Amino acid sequence: MAYTITEDCISCGACEPECKNSAISEGDAAYVIDSDKCTECVGWFEAARCAEVCPVGAPVPDPENSETKEQLLEKFKRLNPDTAPAEGTY
Ligand code: SF4
Ligand code: SF4
Repeated sequence: MAYTITEDCISCGACEPECKNSAISEGDAAYVIDSDKCTECVGWFEAARCAEVCPVGAPVPDPENSETKEQLLEKFKRLNPDTAPAEGTY
């Protein structure tokens, strides 16, 4: 399930450099997540980094982008063909 950023975002920018898939960018009113690039941090970390670093809890799982762990791992491999997924993240 890709993450999304709610309107609680205060545009601090802390999450953007933390995303190893470069899925986060600055939008008009808030930062935004590209669901085609978000793996819920599968392949990189055990938990969603953007949610961990956000001071206001704005990044949340997006129920409209529901994916299995297997699908997220496939997305990771497509986005990062030269990187092996980290143990314990999928
Ligand atoms: S959950 Fe992970 S991959 Fe998805 S946007 Fe947040 S930091 Fe990036
Ligand atoms: S860390 Fe949270 S408040 Fe800051 S830009 Fe990211 S989503 Fe918005």
